[in-house]
Amino acid sequence: MIVLDGLGDRPVLSQGYRTPLEAAVTPNMDRLSKGGLLGLIDPISPGVKPGSDVANMALLGYDPNRYYTGRGALEALGAGLVLHPGEIAFRCNFATVDHSMRVVDRRAGRIHRYTSRLSKELNRMKLESTPDLKVEFKPTVEHRAVLVFRGSGLSRMVSDPDPKAHGLKVVQSKPLEKTHEAKKTAQALNEFVRTSHEKLKHHQVNKERIERGEAPANIVLPRGPGTNPELPSFKTKFNLRASCVTGTVLIKGICRATGVQVLHVRQATGGLRTDLGAKVKSVIDSFAQSDLVFLHIKGADVASHDGDFKSKVRFLEEADGAIGKIMDEVDIAENYILVTGDHSTPVEIREHSGDPVPVAMGGPDVPSSRVTKFCEAAASRGNLGRLRGLDLMPIVTDFIGRSSKFGN
Ligand code: ZN
Ligand code: ZN
Repeated sequence: MIVLDGLGDRPVLSQGYRTPLEAAVTPNMDRLSKGGLLGLIDPISPGVKPGSDVANMALLGYDPNRYYTGRGALEALGAGLVLHPGEIAFRCNFATVDHSMRVVDRRAGRIHRYTSRLSKELNRMKLESTPDLKVEFKPTVEHRAVLVFRGSGLSRMVSDPDPKAHGLKVVQSKPLEKTHEAKKTAQALNEFVRTSHEKLKHHQVNKERIERGEAPANIVLPRGPGTNPELPSFKTKFNLRASCVTGTVLIKGICRATGVQVLHVRQATGGLRTDLGAKVKSVIDSFAQSDLVFLHIKGADVASHDGDFKSKVRFLEEADGAIGKIMDEVDIAENYILVTGDHSTPVEIREHSGDPVPVAMGGPDVPSSRVTKFCEAAASRGNLGRLRGLDLMPIVTDFIGRSSKFGN
């Protein structure tokens, strides 16, 4: 099961009214579409614009309406932290603020070095407002990090201090429900953010960044509070041994929460320059011990958020090459290959949209769509019709002979 993050798009007028997938030369995905099932997936439901967290949960068969407990928790699990019941996790950015606490750069110049040195100032921070709380802070990839509050009487119902836009002031977190727990968590969060600025603004790492003309990482902005999602394991839910290849912390977190084995691929970065060859090798190596291998490839979403049509096309072509290598190794007379996306991220919007994404699946006994191109418009003429993200796993388990009968 191959998921291309942010795969779907809309036709772009300046590009001959084509989508990136239509413009891209993708012989392998086209072959899969023509010989197999082809359709469209609404990740959640038609028109609903999903985050990658809920979209990937749905593709793996977990109903986000039932199980989703906030992104922060999945990020923390993906970063290798443990979450106990009642503990609250946030995803964070190192960011740059000016003297009036206005956000100048939400990603601190995409800082990618010395964040562990900065983090030493923040990890195990003592908070005066909530002295019973333990603070755990861990940097992940580039400007990203996770924050966990451990202790009792906490709630994830608090607003984000991160204003999520440049030029706006850091926001005071507020309780989103009238409980002591939410009030306490908001208070702790505000103190953490304030103290992060005090501890980081004169830090040696930042002095050096300023000297080099780089944006200082002088504050931490948390968002997306979450609690441990308590998901039933993939093994018990589907009776399948699954493994996952990804460079993205969030996807690792979803897999850890579901007991899907995360394979370590050092060169997988989750960016546009990820080493697809290393990921493909890891996928092929894991066939023997897995019933299902989940390969998540992030690059197309990154290009989409950058609004970069050409780079999305180029990345989709690279991904197609990687998919071709996997198709070469898989005996399609005995195994299935599925390609889809977790949601659409149109390059002209630079954000996720509620559009459906194409899905194609090949393998034994799969009827052929005879549609020769893997793209949004062609997929609407496919033989699989239009489904929801949650419908995917039942279709997969039915074909591979692992579903159980409903009724008698
Ligand atoms: Zn996504
Ligand atoms: Zn995205």
